[in-house]
Amino acid sequence: MNTSQISNVLLVSFDAFRLDRTFHFTESDCPHVSELLNDSTYFSKHISTGSGTSTSFPGILASSLPLEYGYRGLSEDHCPIAERLSRNNVYTIGITAQTSCSSLFNYDTGFDRFFDSVGSNSSNTKSFIKEKVANIVRDTPVESPTKAIYDLIKNHDNPPYIQADEVTDRTIDLLFPKIKQSNQTFAWIHYMEPHAPYYPPTKFIKQYHNGNHDLSSINKLINRWNRERGPVGSPKNMDIFTPDERSSIIDFYDAQAAFAVEEFERLISKLKESGELKRTAIIITSDHGEEHFEHNDFGHRPKMIEELIHVPLWIRLPENPDLDTLCSFDNITSHLDLSPTITELFGCEPSDQWQGNSLVSALETNDPTRNYAVSELSHKSGLGGDVRPEELIISVRGKTWKYVLNKQENREYLYQVGEGIDHENVIDKYPGKAKELKHFCEQRISNINKVEADSIDIDSGVEDRLRRLGYK
Ligand SMILES: [Zn+2]
Repeated sequence: MNTSQISNVLLVSFDAFRLDRTFHFTESDCPHVSELLNDSTYFSKHISTGSGTSTSFPGILASSLPLEYGYRGLSEDHCPIAERLSRNNVYTIGITAQTSCSSLFNYDTGFDRFFDSVGSNSSNTKSFIKEKVANIVRDTPVESPTKAIYDLIKNHDNPPYIQADEVTDRTIDLLFPKIKQSNQTFAWIHYMEPHAPYYPPTKFIKQYHNGNHDLSSINKLINRWNRERGPVGSPKNMDIFTPDERSSIIDFYDAQAAFAVEEFERLISKLKESGELKRTAIIITSDHGEEHFEHNDFGHRPKMIEELIHVPLWIRLPENPDLDTLCSFDNITSHLDLSPTITELFGCEPSDQWQGNSLVSALETNDPTRNYAVSELSHKSGLGGDVRPEELIISVRGKTWKYVLNKQENREYLYQVGEGIDHENVIDKYPGKAKELKHFCEQRISNINKVEADSIDIDSGVEDRLRRLGYK
């Protein structure tokens, strides 16, 4: 494929956007996004490298399985996509709304410009200021009247992340001056929505929720879940909410998703207006999915269910009669494949240490580029750390089968995978198939070398934000 007319590549990721809830919008609400998806190749079996943000982004941004170079963000041993591209004179911009894929965990490595909620460049953002104020007030004595202000700010008006409208504003500010000057520009844009807690504008709440909940009451339910949830998959977790409360939470998830898509629409419409859309390749994905109580949990806890690891991926190349692409690619792909795809789109060589394969050929032919995709984690809660063998959960996902080794439960699973939900464990019924996939799993375990994570400093403000995002 001749990719010489591609000047820019945008990698757009949405946090916790599950496959079957993606892009709930009508063509009239978001005509540009709608057209973009119609012109894209859809990868129908795309698998994340993990079930949460911290296990997905080593795959997306450095083509590495999460346990490869220490289990905490990017280390000096990684070869991040931005570093690779900068070395090849591609101008690189990163904008992320999520703390767990921010500069705190070295995800800014290699970017020429980077914006997040923890770096010094974010000091003039509204959420950062709100958080600073809240933290100052929080440190004052309990009886102080300012404490009440803290509670007000903290609980009702202060999302623990940068919201979608600001992400789009920042992207427009950083990207558009550069896109005109540089021959080649890469931008990674990470929207926090639809991740909880939920702060969508009222118009989306009205559109998606018929009940009586508002932002305050729905986020109280989210806080209650974070406080009261029991062990992963425990049936007692289903007693925390009534069926009505569960369905209200999903309404707000959809409202939050619609907000992010509308902000993405604003970005795409701006690109079109500037004339740059025709020179830009766009990759759209989510880091991982979200469980909506199908397996006795909400959110993305440590488990390798389809709702978490099977994620959406679209790739849309610039309009060009020489670039004739498939509507849909129906073989297994992995987040590991994104960085090699991006380097090939820019005409650069991939890094030798990357574990994925470019998907550029998959845009034209339906031939498999891999037979299975590995997803892995090694933690019970939080954001990773040292690799603990007793906490390993590894999944090997083929086109129609999935094998999972769960050391936390000391159990193995085999699933026939189809329409998104895991049903019955059929490991006793198909021992030959289990053995075949288990072989790849054992091979992977034998390759995990570095078990100690690099240490990082997390201040109390960041810790508080992570707690509100559900990291205990
Ligand atoms: Zn995430």
